[in-house]
Amino acid sequence: MAQAMLFTLLLALLQSPAEPPPPPEATEVARGVYVLPGSFLPGRGPDGNTVIFDAPEGLVVVDTGRHQWHSDAILALAQQHDRPIAAILNTHWHLDHSSGNGRLQAAFPHAQVFATGAVDRALAADGFLTRNRAGAEAARDSAAGVQREEIDIFLATMAAPEALRADVVINSSQRLGLAGRALNLRVAERAVTDADLWLYDRRTRVAVLGDLVTLPAPFFETACPERWRTALDQVWATPFRIAIPGHGAPMSRAQFDAYRQAYGAFVDCVNSAAEASACAAQWSENIAQFTASDPRARRMAPQMAEYYVGYLRAGGGQSPDCLD
Ligand SMILES: [Zn+2]
Repeated sequence: MAQAMLFTLLLALLQSPAEPPPPPEATEVARGVYVLPGSFLPGRGPDGNTVIFDAPEGLVVVDTGRHQWHSDAILALAQQHDRPIAAILNTHWHLDHSSGNGRLQAAFPHAQVFATGAVDRALAADGFLTRNRAGAEAARDSAAGVQREEIDIFLATMAAPEALRADVVINSSQRLGLAGRALNLRVAERAVTDADLWLYDRRTRVAVLGDLVTLPAPFFETACPERWRTALDQVWATPFRIAIPGHGAPMSRAQFDAYRQAYGAFVDCVNSAAEASACAAQWSENIAQFTASDPRARRMAPQMAEYYVGYLRAGGGQSPDCLD
């Protein structure tokens, strides 16, 4: 993470302790389906997008963000619509998608968390999150400003890890009624994490993909890149109309396919002898339509991509945490 961390650190030092940003605003992308956009602010960890389905027995909330301003916006939406949160679904255990679980359950204690069991290995003694916790504790005292705030948010989540675990473990793809609304849940093995969930809503033809689609670059920290590629092909084979990424704006089929092709080309480049900077430039060009209106994302795309080329090559083409 050296380069990306350094970059983040430098940005953090330039910032004074920051005000929380304005709360994310929900968009209704299909009837009864809302997207609360995640953020990726200078010096801070990201929040993933949240997707909310208005179901007969309450709201089904897919992913809960990292920061309190994000989970507060989910709770505000429930209040505006005068609807309880009936179920929570995590696409994967990365904390930008699940740190808000506990805050939502504090307000709606009957809302169960549906997720794969993949977080168990991340929370084990030598797991990804446990290792990061040790690193964060060591770094905390010398951190200041926004960076310190981010460390404290991470450590607070790790102090109550039970909220990250599923109440109902989803181990296999299935059609499941959640709060009275049937959704197709799909399990992707060893893609972004050991097991990720994505879902397809036949009624609206919306697919919610979690970090299988992530901009301005895929987050490969815990990834098996080849199986991730297969998962994107499986998404492509479903007749969705709108695809909601883990990070970035809702996509048409053509846009999803552009991302899928860019992803494949990037992984091929990682596995070739090409210069890391060449892979990064190619990635940035292939996804240019998604960063055109966001200068910061346009700057970050090649920096992140180049970092991940080195990261993946050091692991023989995958994350050291990939079980393959
Ligand atoms: Zn994410």
